[in-house]
Amino acid sequence: MSENEQPLDLPRFSDLPLRDELLREVEELGYQHPSPIQAQSIIPLVEGRDLLGQAATGTGKTAAFALPMLERLAEQRPEQARGDAPFGLVLTPTRELALQVAEAVTRYGRGVGARVVTVYGGAPAGPQWRALQQGVDVVVATPGRAIDLMNRGALRLDALETVVLDEADEMLDMGFVEDIETLLDATPDTRQAVLFSATMPRRIETLAQKYLREPVTVRIRREAVPEGEAPKVRQTAYLVPRSHTTAALGRVLEAERPTAAIVFCRTRLDVDAVTETLTARGLRAEALHGGMDQEHRTRVVERLRSGRTELLVATDVAARGLDIDLLTHVVNHDVPQSSEAYVHRIGRVGRAGREGVAITLVPPSKVHAIRAVERLTGQPIEFAPVPTAADLRAARLERTSAALRERLVDDLLDTGSGTDDGVAAMIAGLAAEFDPADVAAATVRLLQAATGAPDDAEDIPVVAAPRAGERREPRGRGGAAGTRPPKAGTTRLFVNAGRASGVRPQDIVGALANESSLSGRDIGAIQIHERHALVEIPEHAADDVLRSLRGGTTLKGRRTNIRRDRGFATAGRGRRD
Ligand code: AMP
Repeated sequence: MSENEQPLDLPRFSDLPLRDELLREVEELGYQHPSPIQAQSIIPLVEGRDLLGQAATGTGKTAAFALPMLERLAEQRPEQARGDAPFGLVLTPTRELALQVAEAVTRYGRGVGARVVTVYGGAPAGPQWRALQQGVDVVVATPGRAIDLMNRGALRLDALETVVLDEADEMLDMGFVEDIETLLDATPDTRQAVLFSATMPRRIETLAQKYLREPVTVRIRREAVPEGEAPKVRQTAYLVPRSHTTAALGRVLEAERPTAAIVFCRTRLDVDAVTETLTARGLRAEALHGGMDQEHRTRVVERLRSGRTELLVATDVAARGLDIDLLTHVVNHDVPQSSEAYVHRIGRVGRAGREGVAITLVPPSKVHAIRAVERLTGQPIEFAPVPTAADLRAARLERTSAALRERLVDDLLDTGSGTDDGVAAMIAGLAAEFDPADVAAATVRLLQAATGAPDDAEDIPVVAAPRAGERREPRGRGGAAGTRPPKAGTTRLFVNAGRASGVRPQDIVGALANESSLSGRDIGAIQIHERHALVEIPEHAADDVLRSLRGGTTLKGRRTNIRRDRGFATAGRGRRD
């Protein structure tokens, strides 16, 4: 098949037996084509067939069962004929998934007026009960609470037309098999049954045989990751002196901008300090404390899901039992106590074939712990430089520029329809007095000041990333690295170029190793400051190195002098970068 023909062969939503009200929502969500699981499931499900589907999260399986359910609801129960006996029931293993599915069904079902209620444990039953009394078409539930409400007469299953078991393998793993069977036994024989599972162990097959009638089977293979290929979780470490961890984390997260992240801290005090630092950067961060009741935790997780919060900051203890399946990032403010704890934490991302990112801030004394994790998992953890103030400023300007561009285009398209808010007249007034470019620049600066963008005046010393297997001596706490004396037996050299010239630790290592008798291994701690850098080398090699470098050396294309540090170590500190 040639490339030109391909689009013609891709299935289209409009070819599926779905009414316009549903197609409109799908189009609004920007879905271009049905995913493979949707292309295979929607027709048989609309026809009322049972279905056994093997598909993981991220394949579009929610729409694969929700759209047919909504089509049949609209077809079989016109809005005026709907009562309080639900048409469809979706069972999910966790309340987080229940909320996520309910949100999707509500969205897809807007045009057909579907009333969706979510019921799950760990929250008061009263409001869920009342929601069910007010009339419902689709109930999305975790099994335990569904049974509870059924037994109390609040959840009617006698008029059910379709039941979906979502992530059935997870539900069985969580010990819900009896609950599921009780619920299925309470549904009419005539109802449609749909079972989705990421894996197909024997117990799932048995369940399917018992409850599905001549099901259509659909299998979407997850792409196997060939050995040696990049792992699903991108793992990055940032080497920073311990005293600068929180400040560095703020920069890293501002640059990375996770959609939904959990930030692990060692202590409650750290949780509060980190939350404050991140909030001050305009990131939406919320602390999660161990003492919070379930309702409060649910609300916080819900805010993360809806995008009102981007970052949950927590200790391991506070995060226990938190099953958030939408996380994009796991962030370690501190290196976890053990390799196993690290692996457990990052197991929260990259699930079911999705991409995930793990970020860890590492003080020099903990580099060996990161290497131990690499050995345990067999997966690399890359060290990356902390974004500089200049990097962040550039990124911020880029975002402002994109937002302005979008707004300008919107305003152009919107001519005449908006009310006159006086802005245009005010700008015209200023432009008569000042250069319009200056007016615009002042506006952007005011905006940035108002949004609280930090100026990152604090210098975060750069520590050279160590090679695999290399262990550095722990540093004393307190006091910036630049002010402590060099280690015994070493001497410190002053390099008259720094971050402002784009100098990185590897450039210094390269220059020294190229032009003197030193090898990379001999070179100790390197600190890059704004306009200078400091590097430690063995005392016995110092004279020799300085002789070789007498005429200067070239760093980043610039002639640079290297001499013994005469105690000017702090000269550049405190300056804005
Ligand atoms: P799911 O596997 O149901 O959790 O869906 C994964 C993600 O894919 C969700 O964010 C859906 O909104 C999105 N999605 C579902 N179907 C499509 C589609 N046909 N085209 C693009 N995105 C989709």
